[in-house]
Amino acid sequence: MNQPFSFWENQTWLDGYDVVVIGSGIVGLYAAWELKKKAKSLRVLLLERGSIPAGASTRNAGVACFGTLSEIIDDLAHHPASEVFGMVEKRWKGLQKLRQNLGDKAIGFEAKGGHELFFTEQKGQHALCMERMDGINRTLAPILGKKQTYVSADHSISGFGFKGTEHLIRNALEGQIDSGQMMKALLEKVRAAGVEVRFGTAVKSIEDEEQAVRILCGDGSILKSKRVLLATNGFTATLAPGIDVVPARAQVLITSAIEKLPFQGSFHFDDGYYYFRNVGKRVLFGGGRNLDFKAEETTAFGLTEKVQNQLEHYLKTVILPGQNYSIEQRWSGIMCMGSKRTPIVEALSKTIFCAVRLSGMGVAIGSQVGEEAADLVLASN
Ligand SMILES: Cc1cc2nc3c(=O)[nH]c(=O)nc-3n(C[C@H](O)[C@H](O)[C@H](O)COP(=O)(O)OP(=O)(O)OC[C@H]3O[C@@H](n4cnc5c(N)ncnc54)[C@H](O)[C@@H]3O)c2cc1C
Repeated sequence: MNQPFSFWENQTWLDGYDVVVIGSGIVGLYAAWELKKKAKSLRVLLLERGSIPAGASTRNAGVACFGTLSEIIDDLAHHPASEVFGMVEKRWKGLQKLRQNLGDKAIGFEAKGGHELFFTEQKGQHALCMERMDGINRTLAPILGKKQTYVSADHSISGFGFKGTEHLIRNALEGQIDSGQMMKALLEKVRAAGVEVRFGTAVKSIEDEEQAVRILCGDGSILKSKRVLLATNGFTATLAPGIDVVPARAQVLITSAIEKLPFQGSFHFDDGYYYFRNVGKRVLFGGGRNLDFKAEETTAFGLTEKVQNQLEHYLKTVILPGQNYSIEQRWSGIMCMGSKRTPIVEALSKTIFCAVRLSGMGVAIGSQVGEEAADLVLASN
């Protein structure tokens, strides 16, 4: 907007906010909703640069995962056990919260379970998983309420029709959601709670004025709020430089419907770098960031031949050998990584807060992170 704003616009739309949440992904939406639920009188505004959420939450694979066995073992090698199992617990609780608050029907939740594939050359990794399985199941039992979360499922390989796959480990508790429906249901709750939502508004910069924050938007408007919460995940570096976040692009594709699709649920391989699931009779397949980490360390949406060719290769040779299908759609989304897998929920100053770095597993934990962030902001008042 090139014209100066009017007195009325200024009074009504630019000033007087208690909290402005930037970013309408699962974390921003959940945080805004929690803020209004816990402090009804607060004036909360949610700003989103896209005409719909435009990061990871509406572009992901919709797998409600809390970690494959090999991911947990790998994490245990690099982080304290309390941190690793604490994250599993947070993801699990987050998923339960999402299901309870929005309802399974509204989020398209299905409990079809998950599997991890091990190829012939990954025999050693599989052997380690089998060796550690009982101990990890025992530790997880009180958290997840199930004695054996991970079980060997080699007997399913031929029925699923996978080629080159030597072993399978099943996680009975992994679920799948419809990410579009989940985000729509969440947005409806946010609006119904009285949060003001403004799409198509990119925040260019924020200025801490000690008692309040000035928010400079792409359309030239300048907003004022007592508090600001950054829920901008992979895009955080421009607004809060110096924070330990790195963008990570993830590419996916979806096939046409396959009449006799021999499997259901979600699947992971190559240390979680590849994942696929059924969406009805289609297969949604993504990953391959590890083919070129540097190229995928970007906030720019886009597809590369290298990754897309590899996805197609795995589809043809491992996942859907001999099946008739075409690729119907391809897209990308931006995740957020850093030196640790744990999310950053912290105060950057007295007035600016952040809830970011959801890594590649934000579906399950997003609601927890949003609530934690809302509590942090409320505690600062
Ligand atoms: C392809 C793909 C597949 C994935 N698959 C899974 C999966 O199966 N299971 C799983 O658990 N996780 C998965 N993830 C990860 C998961 O989607 C994320 O961890 C989670 O959605 C992050 O939520 P968020 O709210 O933190 O961030 P986002 O959803 O990225 O939201 C951030 C929002 O901030 C907005 N924004 C950024 N900068 C600004 C600005 N300056 N002004 C205004 N708005 C701004 C963005 O437009 C965006 O809408 C996947 C991610 C991708 C990309």
